Amino acid sequence: MNDLDLTTHRLQPGQPVNLSEIETDGKAFHDDRDAAEEEFEALVEELAEWQRRLYAEGRQKLLVVLQAMDAGGKDSTIRHIFGRTNPQGVQVHSFKVPTAQELAHDFLWRIHQRVPGKGMIGVFNRSHYEDVVVVRVDRLVPESVWRARYEQINQFERLLADTGTTILKFYLHISKKEQRKQFQERIDDPSKQWKFSFDDLEKRKQWDGYMAAYSEALARCTTGAAPWYVIPGDQKWYRLLAVARVLVGTLRQMNPAYPAPERDLSGVVVE
Ligand code: ADP
Repeated sequence: MNDLDLTTHRLQPGQPVNLSEIETDGKAFHDDRDAAEEEFEALVEELAEWQRRLYAEGRQKLLVVLQAMDAGGKDSTIRHIFGRTNPQGVQVHSFKVPTAQELAHDFLWRIHQRVPGKGMIGVFNRSHYEDVVVVRVDRLVPESVWRARYEQINQFERLLADTGTTILKFYLHISKKEQRKQFQERIDDPSKQWKFSFDDLEKRKQWDGYMAAYSEALARCTTGAAPWYVIPGDQKWYRLLAVARVLVGTLRQMNPAYPAPERDLSGVVVE
């Protein structure tokens, strides 16, 4: 089994980030869609096997954080990548506008309750990064409050890593042009209209503000224990392949194993 390259789209700690200069149209692994889809199929099968082992072993934990602009492909990534895993061992959480109860606590309170336990894969569809992105762009708290959160997030993620959680964070990076196309498809297709909201158009008007907020969050919160990957997202097939490669490559390194039976089972026959 070859080692998969885990560094291609990974940010380095301390590296300045300007998302407007990072490609949204990826070609690092393949520029051939058929070859990419074939590789993806094999990776998704392999991922399902690693997940069964992780669950059976019951020792390690994997947290996958997904962030993107609206229509950036978070839902589709979750569906295609985890669709063949065992639902008992994968927990997906979507973080929405905080409730009154959530707002009555610190911003990490609702997040910490959802981190994966032993043997589990936790997938965050949006996350605590909303608290340094939408909260900043919409001026929901003063700058001194959101700015302090970078360090609070790094400390929190360090706690998770120190207590046995492998953390992978993916920013699915689409262009403004691609977002326009996706929004229009949602508007024009009755089976997708439920996904469209006028609030999405308001956010689109603040595109540059979001890019600045994301760029700073990704730069400040890329640590050795919890790296960010910026995944080119304009082509779905490339985005899926790039995410699957990182997940499978990481699980290969985690190398979970089926536990040995309590006693030697050779010759045991059930009557
Ligand atoms: P999605 O777009 O992820 O499919 P929704 O359309 O329900 O789901 O959007 C969820 C909304 O909740 C997003 O607009 C997001 O910015 C917002 N949100 C999530 N977390 C927070 C937060 N901590 N503070 C303010 N808004 C948040």
